[in-house]
Amino acid sequence: MIFAAIIMVILWLLQIVFINSFYKTMKTNEIRKIGNELVELYGTEEFQQELLDKSFSEGIVIHILDQNGSVVYPLDIMDLVRRPRLQGAAFTEFLNQLYTSESDSVVYTSGHDSLDVETIIYGGILENGEGPNYFLFINTILEPIDSTVNVLKNQLIVITIIALVLSMGLSLFLSRRLSEPIASITKSAKGLGEGRYDVEFRKGDYLEIDNLADTLSQATKELKKSEELRRDLIANVTHDLKTPLTVIKSYGEMIRDISGENPEKREYHINTIIQETDRLGRLVDDMLDLTKIQSELRELKMKEMGLFEETEEVLERFSYFKEHEGFDITVRSNGDTNILGDKLKISQAVYNLINNGINYSIEDKRLIIDVDGHENQVRFSIRDFGPGIGEDELDYIWDRYYRGGKSHTRNKTGSGIGLSLVKSIILAHKGQVGVESSPGGGSLFWFTLPRNLKE
Ligand code: ADP
Repeated sequence: MIFAAIIMVILWLLQIVFINSFYKTMKTNEIRKIGNELVELYGTEEFQQELLDKSFSEGIVIHILDQNGSVVYPLDIMDLVRRPRLQGAAFTEFLNQLYTSESDSVVYTSGHDSLDVETIIYGGILENGEGPNYFLFINTILEPIDSTVNVLKNQLIVITIIALVLSMGLSLFLSRRLSEPIASITKSAKGLGEGRYDVEFRKGDYLEIDNLADTLSQATKELKKSEELRRDLIANVTHDLKTPLTVIKSYGEMIRDISGENPEKREYHINTIIQETDRLGRLVDDMLDLTKIQSELRELKMKEMGLFEETEEVLERFSYFKEHEGFDITVRSNGDTNILGDKLKISQAVYNLINNGINYSIEDKRLIIDVDGHENQVRFSIRDFGPGIGEDELDYIWDRYYRGGKSHTRNKTGSGIGLSLVKSIILAHKGQVGVESSPGGGSLFWFTLPRNLKE
């Protein structure tokens, strides 16, 4: 509306308020131009012709006067009879203006004798060095333009009203369409800021707002997910920390009250305490590892290494399970399994996957590991025959701190960090991870690493 108002004010100023001075300036310039041209041409051959041409142009009257004010041009029959002179007062004014002027010409306005109009007068001196000088006198009536201005004024009133009404309508429309959706989204975003994850972001107004609403909805979803994970983590961690602590405390009490004197029992109880402490230590290590490894992943120490050999090395750490817990672990290799990778990190990924295989195998304790070299990549996979993973969980198991509820059968303090580490490590090596699993059907975890070997 302000914009429309400014345009209207400019129009009013130009068309109504200043139109008279505009008109006057225009006319003055026009007449000065003609006068100067004639003064310039005086004494040349074209002067006569030009004088005639200009004399007949509309709205201007040209006279040439002699020193007495008698008209020497135009001289037609009527003039000869009357030999008119420029009226005394007017001629004096004319001469005065010319004499006081700094240049050879002058333009001034003067009231008309009988009519209520102004005339613009040009005065110039015609000199050619020989004979007496003459005066060039041009005048034109400054025609009143009041009636035109009135017409314009009426038009402008109508235009102003239309412009204001239109701009008011437009601003209402725009504020509806632009501001309202933004206000609504702001309100929802405030709700989100207060922790309400069920807020809805209004869509359907225009593309940009729809995009914003989509982005915010996505952010809400992510926030909700990480909030749930955070809650789960606290629940899990407190539970996992609490259990070993309870065990440690009760065994300590037992040593104090009962088994202190009995070396065999005491030994057993002390061992349990040590085991539980180890378990607690592992849990804390896992959590520290995650932050440490994730910062280390930014600078991988890439070296040539054989993935198969690495797997065998890692497996040695699990020999206890083979020998004492009845695990049957098969490792098969096919093709060249050399890759360029950070040995420590890759072995950590392999370790985590084998560790999960062992932790989640209950009755069928077979594990089959395949390390296959393909043309551009090497693929590692481990198959177990444990409880498997439900479809609804498959998307989440790679998330940090996510721990499946039902499949947790072995009495192991998991932190939900293992798989997220595997994923971070493999992705940092520009590889891929995946899992095929169904409840009751066991699981097959795999990753691939690009060879990255220089030719
Ligand atoms: P953690 O094992 O410490 O709970 P992980 O990140 O290693 O954490 O695993 C996340 C979840 O994925 C586990 O809680 C479990 O539910 C599921 N999972 C991982 N590996 C297996 C597997 N081999 N068989 C069945 N479920 C698994």
